[in-house]
Amino acid sequence: MFHISKNKCVGCGLCEAKCPAKAISINDQGFAVIDQEKCIQCGLCEKICHQSASKNITERLTFAIGTDNGKIIKQGEHIGESRYFSIWDYLEGGMTFREKRENIKYEENESLLHGDPKKAEKVASVLNGVDIIVGKMIGPNVVRMRKKYVPVIIREPSIDKALKIIKENINEIVDEYHKQDRKAIILN
Ligand code: SF4
Ligand code: SF4
Repeated sequence: MFHISKNKCVGCGLCEAKCPAKAISINDQGFAVIDQEKCIQCGLCEKICHQSASKNITERLTFAIGTDNGKIIKQGEHIGESRYFSIWDYLEGGMTFREKRENIKYEENESLLHGDPKKAEKVASVLNGVDIIVGKMIGPNVVRMRKKYVPVIIREPSIDKALKIIKENINEIVDEYHKQDRKAIILN
């Protein structure tokens, strides 16, 4: 399924003009969106976009969002302090809620200034099968675990709005997911 990245698109309208299925329009925020019901998967928008904003996304990715209540992303503390993780699957442009996973409480060794690796191991056991972790603040433990997960920082507190932000920027997340040396992505 082709998807246009909000962050990369400059709204030039080239793909809108050339799409053989008239599936692309420029929205009121000034970036191109694809009507998936009209798209015939020809790939022309990916070929002609000078910003590399259009991409065929085929991956199924599992997201873990750190939260205390399922509505708001954990605020004020690192994601590892979340009461639980809300697990979502991304597939073909949609985010589907899968389950809630309780976090494991662990007494951190406060003498370790830059994060306790044993705590990281405990959190990792809760995040089995997860590809992307989402929080407002990502601590050093999570940064250490970039080989396992792509850390995504979202400033917007509402999980509903964060899901929309994830979908709008899925191209960047997929790109980072496939890199050897992953970095945290900040999305607003
Ligand atoms: S996706 Fe590319 S070609 Fe289409 S409007 Fe955005 S920048 Fe222009
Ligand atoms: S893949 Fe083809 S049909 Fe689909 S939006 Fe792009 S140009 Fe249009």
